Amino acid sequence: MGGHQYQVIITDCDHGSIEEEKAEFSQIGAELILAQVQGEKDLIRFCKDADGILNQYALLTRKVLESLPKCKVISRYGVGVDSVDLEAATDLGMIVANVPDYCMDEVANQTIAMILTLIRKTAFFDRKVKSGEWDFHSGIPIYRTKGKTLGLIGCGKIGLEVARRISAFGVKVMTFDPYLKKAPEGIELKDFDTVLRESDFISIHCPLNDSTRHLIGEKEFEKMEKKPLLINTSRGPIVDEKALLQALGEGLLSGAGLDVLEKEPPDSRNPMLKMENVIFSPHVGFYSVESISELKRRTAKNVVDVLMGRQPRYVVNREVTGKTRASISID
Ligand code: NAD
Repeated sequence: MGGHQYQVIITDCDHGSIEEEKAEFSQIGAELILAQVQGEKDLIRFCKDADGILNQYALLTRKVLESLPKCKVISRYGVGVDSVDLEAATDLGMIVANVPDYCMDEVANQTIAMILTLIRKTAFFDRKVKSGEWDFHSGIPIYRTKGKTLGLIGCGKIGLEVARRISAFGVKVMTFDPYLKKAPEGIELKDFDTVLRESDFISIHCPLNDSTRHLIGEKEFEKMEKKPLLINTSRGPIVDEKALLQALGEGLLSGAGLDVLEKEPPDSRNPMLKMENVIFSPHVGFYSVESISELKRRTAKNVVDVLMGRQPRYVVNREVTGKTRASISID
């Protein structure tokens, strides 16, 4: 351990540099090691003396966690913690932390960019001009944004940011969000069918779980009376892609903007790749230079906090309170 009081391991990360993490850990004199390992055997070998772990994709199974006698905290880069056996971590008194809010601006901007790109047909015209066509008639009709309605499926951190931005374009915002008790300011809280029926643009901002998988499918597309644009910057499987393809084919939608897909990357034969009114980005919504830097600092800060005896900002397994190895109670 070379005189350090704590050892912290980064099991794996694909960010290139770990300067931000190093800066956080230097404040407490912890030794930071980037292992870049996958697989139970290697994970156990590299992490066995760790006081804390930063993790991206490597699977921290019960077997791995049971072999880490000193580990007090696992901090996951980003929101999802599917790489960690939460139940095992809780049983063993390890706090699991994440960073759910490092890229709200980015995803909201990606959503607005997709709406505007589809409305103004900027990607379409760019392709036309580059292929030698200087004539806007191939892109008509084009409609204005003012007076239109955006329906948000889910209105949490990102949905709210999208609503704030789109209001500047004169767009009315409504949302279907079964967990909201009251409507956020400037947004109408409606039932699912009303949002499907009355929206000119529908944008998805709920999490993927058992109740939202294929939330938008054949029946829902049939209820969309205004031939809306559908934007998905949340998670691919929330939309039934077969039904989406069919809806586009039948003209039930004016177009779609997809940052996420059921299968990423898409099959090269996916017919949507040939559709002029469908635009894609490769699951980039979360990314900016600043958001990644913030993610790295906050992921490290979670571990620093636990090692310093403080409750970290984002605890996933709150039920660990009362049995944490770090003797921290979680409120
Ligand atoms: P959040 O937890 O702040 O908000 C989610 C909202 O969805 C909540 O208000 C919740 O009540 C609502 N919700 C839950 N179940 C619902 C349902 N069945 N129908 C309608 N609404 C429902 O999350 P957030 O930070 O706003 O992020 C939203 C999603 O964006 C995340 O779950 C994630 O999948 C996605 N995301 C994508 C990227 C990207 O790179 N494209 C990056 C970050 C997040």
